[in-house]
Amino acid sequence: MAQRTPFVGGNWKMNLDLARSTALASESGGVAAACGTVDVAIFPPFPYLAKVVEVLRGSPIRVGGQDCSSEKSGAFTGQVSAGMLVDVGCSAVLIGHSERRHGLGETDAVLAHKLGRALEAGLLPIVCVGETLEERESGRAHDVIRTQLRGTLAGQSPSPGSLVIAYEPVWAIGTGRTATPDDAEEAHRTVRQTLADLYDVRFSESVRVIYGGSVNAKSAAELFAREEIDGGLVGGASLLAEDFAVIVAAASAKGKARR
Ligand code: PEP
Repeated sequence: MAQRTPFVGGNWKMNLDLARSTALASESGGVAAACGTVDVAIFPPFPYLAKVVEVLRGSPIRVGGQDCSSEKSGAFTGQVSAGMLVDVGCSAVLIGHSERRHGLGETDAVLAHKLGRALEAGLLPIVCVGETLEERESGRAHDVIRTQLRGTLAGQSPSPGSLVIAYEPVWAIGTGRTATPDDAEEAHRTVRQTLADLYDVRFSESVRVIYGGSVNAKSAAELFAREEIDGGLVGGASLLAEDFAVIVAAASAKGKARR
């Protein structure tokens, strides 16, 4: 059985305000207690990062940015560098979330630069890949996953522990429609096979591959029961402290079973 420690990320997207972000972070005691058998990170909006870091000081829960710049510093109005995230106490970052790939047109080439910046700054990047509904229905889902992975990892030689891959089918994000455990596991196998081709089998078997797309307190345990699924990236349900705690507990149970 794989020894990979499960990972759960909570992507708050552009939700909450400062008071509610602080309150939600303060309610994460149960989640923090599970850390050890599961790694947990939350991704608040940029303006709230420093405050959330302060609230979670001493907690094993990581705080991360929802994005970082492909540039190191300079005249890039509105952008936030990987170094700035580290400076305010972040230790993780989302790279290539579909709301940036598809919503903002970020290409694999841009994302490869972002990934490079994140790795050189010492952040744990969560690299997101996944197909649209049209790509799935036309039988291209696995090709898309391979292409996005190859493009985003181009030129990088990460260690398996230095990043996490999130398989997030676009049609399942924020829609309430979850991939079946079979479909998710099949996609995860494609991710691992691509990583084995790019690096080696040891790498592909050691790296954590998590699922994202309408994971909730009800679906988490069934998804995480699959050997290939090492946890989840959670949007909507991460805004509800109790639901997020249930999801983390499901991943923690898997972490315990793997010991
Ligand atoms: C996400 O933001 O990565 C996500 C999967 O969102 P949701 O859980 O709301 O589908």
